[in-house]
Amino acid sequence: MRNSYLPYGKQWLDDDDIQAVVNVLRSDYLTTGPEILEFEQVVAKYVGAKYAVAFANGTAAIHGTCFAAGIGEGDEVITTPITFAASANCVRYVNGKVVFADIDEKTYNINPKEIEKQISEKTKAIIPVHFTGQPVDLDAIHEIAKKHNLVVIEDAAHALGATYKGMKIGSLSDMTMFSFHPVKHVTTGEGGIITTNNETFYQMLLQFRSHGITRDKSLLQKDEGPWYYDMQFLGYNYRMTDIQAALGKSQMNKIDQFIERRKEIVQKYNEAFSKLHEIITPYQSTNSESSWHLYIIQLKLDKLNATRREIFEELINLNIGVNVHYIPVHTLSSYQQLGYKQGSLPKAEALYERIITLPLFPKMTDDDVLDVINAVKEVILKVKK
Ligand SMILES: *Cc1c(COP(=O)(O)O)cnc(C)c1O
Repeated sequence: MRNSYLPYGKQWLDDDDIQAVVNVLRSDYLTTGPEILEFEQVVAKYVGAKYAVAFANGTAAIHGTCFAAGIGEGDEVITTPITFAASANCVRYVNGKVVFADIDEKTYNINPKEIEKQISEKTKAIIPVHFTGQPVDLDAIHEIAKKHNLVVIEDAAHALGATYKGMKIGSLSDMTMFSFHPVKHVTTGEGGIITTNNETFYQMLLQFRSHGITRDKSLLQKDEGPWYYDMQFLGYNYRMTDIQAALGKSQMNKIDQFIERRKEIVQKYNEAFSKLHEIITPYQSTNSESSWHLYIIQLKLDKLNATRREIFEELINLNIGVNVHYIPVHTLSSYQQLGYKQGSLPKAEALYERIITLPLFPKMTDDDVLDVINAVKEVILKVKK
C-alpha cells in the first residue's frame, strides 16, 4: 500500500511559473495591469476565439455570461444535473429558473433529446457541460438553439484543449467558460475566463466584471471631466489580479504537455482495466477528443458483493484519493427546497449511485498510476461475485 495519500487532482507548478508571479510582485501593477490582457489573448488564441475576458473564478465568469445573455426573472435555462453546482447556480444569480435535462447513459453528458423535451416558451439558453472533458453533442445542441432562438453557453471547466470535430472547444458557441482552479488543466489559484466571438457580449462582460462601470467616452451620456465614469448597470468586482494572470500565462505554455500526460495515464488505466468485467471504463465518442479532466469508473453493482460506499472507503484506506463527480445538482438541499424532485432525472440519479473518480493529473508518476491500478484491481477482485 502507498504510504502517502494520492489526491484525485492537483496542480503542476515549475520554477518558470513561480518566476512569472515574482516578476509581477516586483512590478507596478498587482491588478488590472498588462498581464490580464496578455493572458486573455493567449487563451483566446489557443481556443481560436476572437475575445476573452478573465474573471476572479469560473463561477463569476459564468455568472457574467447569464447577465450578458439577458437572462432574468421568468427565464428558463436548461443544463445537466451531472455537474458542479456552479453550472446551475449562475442562472439563479440572475433570477432565472434552472431546468435540468437528463443525461446520455454512455457519455454521461446532457442528452439533446432530453433538452428538446424541456424546451418551453420561457427557455432562453442552454448551458451544456463537457463533463470530464468529453465534448457534448454540439451540432445537435446548436440545432435546437437555432430552432428556438436560444443562447448557448458552454461550461468548459473540464474541457480546455478538448476538440469537437477537429475544432477546439472555446469558439463554437455564443460564450464558453473555462476555470483555472488548481484541479483543472491549468491554474491561476482561483480564476476563470469567458471566450466569445461576439463583440457585444465581450463589451458587456468587461463592464460586468468591474461594477458595471465604464470610462469609454463613446458609451457615456455626458462628460463632466477627465475623471468622469459612469455605472450603467449593477455589476460586480469580479476582476482577476495580474499575479494570477501571469501565472496563467506561464501555465498556458505547458497546456499541450499537460493534456498529453493526462492521455498517457488514461491509456494505462484503460489497458489495465480492460479485463476487469465488474467496472465500466469511460466511453469515448468518435467525433471528439476529450481533454481528460476526470477518469470515472462505473461499478457493475450486480456483479459485486459490496456497495459503492464500501469500495470507495477501501480505496481511501489504501491512500488512493478517489472522489465522486457529481452528486446530481437537483438533489442538493438548496434545490430540493425550490421543489426539484428526487426521481425526476432517473439516468443521472442511477449513474450517481455507481461512479467513482480515480486520481488523474499530469504530475502523477508512473508509480502513482500503478498504485491506483493495483488498488482498484485488489479491491474489485476481493468483492467480485
Ligand atoms: C470547476 C468548475 C466550475 C467552477 O469553477 P470555479 O473556478 O471553481 O468557480 C464550474 N463548472 C464545472 C463543471 C466545474 O468543474
